[in-house]
Amino acid sequence: MSRLFSAASLIIIALLVLCPRTQAAGPDSLTAVPFQEVHIQDAFWGPRIETNRKATIEANLHECEISGRIKNFAICGKLETGHHQGLLFNDSDVYKVIEGIAYALSSRRDPALERRTDAIIDKIAAAQQPDGYLNTYWTLVEPGKRWTNIKFGHELYCAGHLFEAAVAYYQATGKRKLLDVACKFADHIASVFGPDRRHAVPGHEEIELALVKLYRVTGRERYLKLAEFFLNMRGRADHRQLFGDYAQDHKPIREQTEVVGHAVRAMYLYSGMADVAALTGDQSLLKPLERIWHDVVDRKMYVTGGIGPSASNEGFTVPYDLPNDSAYCETCAAIGMALWNHRMFLLTGNAKYADVLEREVYNGLLSGIALTGDRFFYVNPLASKGKHHRVPWFDCSCCPTNIVRYIPGMGERVYAHRGNDLYTVLYVGNTATIALKGGKVKITEETRYPWERRIRFVIEPEKPFKFTLHLRRPGWLQSAPTTEVTGRVPGRQLTTVLEGRTGFTAITQEWHKGDVVEVDLPMPVRRVHADPHVKADVGRVALMRGPVVFCLEGVDNGGHVRNLALPTDAAISASFEKGLLGGVEVLQGQALAVTPGQAATPVAFKAVPYYAWDNRQPGEMVVWLREKTSRQDAKTQSKNAKKTISLRAAFAP
Ligand SMILES: [Zn+2]
Repeated sequence: MSRLFSAASLIIIALLVLCPRTQAAGPDSLTAVPFQEVHIQDAFWGPRIETNRKATIEANLHECEISGRIKNFAICGKLETGHHQGLLFNDSDVYKVIEGIAYALSSRRDPALERRTDAIIDKIAAAQQPDGYLNTYWTLVEPGKRWTNIKFGHELYCAGHLFEAAVAYYQATGKRKLLDVACKFADHIASVFGPDRRHAVPGHEEIELALVKLYRVTGRERYLKLAEFFLNMRGRADHRQLFGDYAQDHKPIREQTEVVGHAVRAMYLYSGMADVAALTGDQSLLKPLERIWHDVVDRKMYVTGGIGPSASNEGFTVPYDLPNDSAYCETCAAIGMALWNHRMFLLTGNAKYADVLEREVYNGLLSGIALTGDRFFYVNPLASKGKHHRVPWFDCSCCPTNIVRYIPGMGERVYAHRGNDLYTVLYVGNTATIALKGGKVKITEETRYPWERRIRFVIEPEKPFKFTLHLRRPGWLQSAPTTEVTGRVPGRQLTTVLEGRTGFTAITQEWHKGDVVEVDLPMPVRRVHADPHVKADVGRVALMRGPVVFCLEGVDNGGHVRNLALPTDAAISASFEKGLLGGVEVLQGQALAVTPGQAATPVAFKAVPYYAWDNRQPGEMVVWLREKTSRQDAKTQSKNAKKTISLRAAFAP
């Protein structure tokens, strides 16, 4: 009896300490509807999530096994013998794959995959040192030298990915073994770093946003405080180890005005700042974030959403430096941009951030993975002579392990809410159950977005109650007169209000089971021009339809595309090709083939979505096509463009 009582007490205490919380937020910020509540079932993301489950997770696990990444934990935990293999941040890859598995399991339970993951978690737990420290490289290769290389040692970076994996796996499965490991390590880190302890900042940001996740699940204030500490120390001379621009450590975060340095580091830092601002309501964090956002989006972002043009620092250079062939555009940087912009949207409710999120997921992020799900780009150029191809893995494999966790987590980017306000963020076919203040609502969203313009919502509140549905008006619609919203609400008139400032259309009314709302987003083919300051794109045009950026590949165009020009008056038609590249919209029309010394000749062209390039025969690729056939014409055009195009954006929608 006493043993039973004792066991029951332990369970109650554990629940009190680790009771899963809904994401606490500041009074004005929105909360994402969690991935467990949103089940994606559409023709675009559904198959990708399935490919991720079947192929990408499997490929990543296999590579983690054969490269020694998983064995490193077993050796560190004295379960196996041998030597540490690989780079000093390889632990993070295993954590990121586990995070991806967690999201996959939430949409479809898979006992075999779960057992396999539990076995890896056992090895991770065994590798944890008695005081909570956990890093296989610094334990096995350089024992006694923990925390001696904060700049490039990646201990705090790996810890961050452990925390993210632990939170996701706990939320998806209810299993807390990895969460306990994460908390023990976080407690250890809090005993080393802090206002009254060692002053330092991570050389690679990541732990800040991860500590916020850990705080949200456990409710332990010290994790939020530690995240704030790492943010507030950055750029301050008193941590005595300034890393400079490369790691955004050149000045205190509230004084930063431009995006600098390593792109992934920057995005993770801003994500952490946005998280803390959302939780604490600290407005002093919002101002620098908005300034930096404008610097990135207006001056340093490719039309694909790619960021960080330079290979030398895997990051940013000077404004408008956006070369196409040599564009670095790391897949992780696009993912980081998506993560940050999602947070900015939740923080502010402004749809311009959701627009950037959408630009990333349909273009510069999605290009990072092959349609088969088992080959990856680290670098995502916007033009190629035919030598750039996806590969199964990299020694530094941050990108495959980032995309394996991003795609199955898409559900979390579909809706957000606050009180009795429900926001659509990305249009994706799904069913979701959403807890608003007035009650629960089941929503079924049917759409063939991004290919087709219609989106249909069936609303099923558990009981009739009044709430506001906010429908995002994508930024790419801005030239359209209005978004058409229709509805079938028996006996009542659907009242919509255009929220011009924030980019939403709002419908406030008492909702009844079976109410239907249909949204119509006109999707003409758009000719997009870069800001004239972007030298690489002067006199050039890119094609978009909806949120999707298109490119021309040699395989569709007789081998060569770099010599093609698209006159301003060229008619372009869009059609869906079911059997091509998993089913894609293609653009077709007539271009001009330009050969030096000869008259340009008309030639039919075909463009496919940029994300889908390099999935067939290797060959040339371009996103930006010449609009004129001679250099002189291009110069004249550039001059005219300067008079008419706003300098606000690096490309005009
Ligand atoms: Zn990467």
